[in-house]
Amino acid sequence: MVGLAAGLLIIGGGWLGAARHDTVPEQLPFMISGGLIGLAIVLASTSLLIIRSLRQHRDHISAQLTQLIEEIAARGTGRVASEGSESAAGGNSLVAVGASSYHLPTCRLVEKRRETEMVPVDVARARELAACRVCKPPV
Ligand SMILES: [Zn+2]
Repeated sequence: MVGLAAGLLIIGGGWLGAARHDTVPEQLPFMISGGLIGLAIVLASTSLLIIRSLRQHRDHISAQLTQLIEEIAARGTGRVASEGSESAAGGNSLVAVGASSYHLPTCRLVEKRRETEMVPVDVARARELAACRVCKPPV
């Protein structure tokens, strides 16, 4: 906003300067410094405002998407928790391991993979794999 105001002021200054002279060669320096530089500053600051607005939009949508995923995951684990509560307490229930995290066998993230290794939770933890944030396997 400050850049936009500064750009408009520079354009105004250039216009005032040019208005005091009658011939084009005398007005040209005011046109260049006031008009073009002011215009460049106005365009640059307007671009920055648009970029900031787009980023705010993106962050907003991203936050909503995260919330949506968490709500879906909460419903998914609510269904699984009733049937798997006693096996979740034990450290030897089997989990599906990925490259950097491990999942419940029912997790939708591993459903599509054909070759998934099934190991006890202890082994997954020993490999320093992170628990999936979607299906929330036992820790
Ligand atoms: Zn998972």
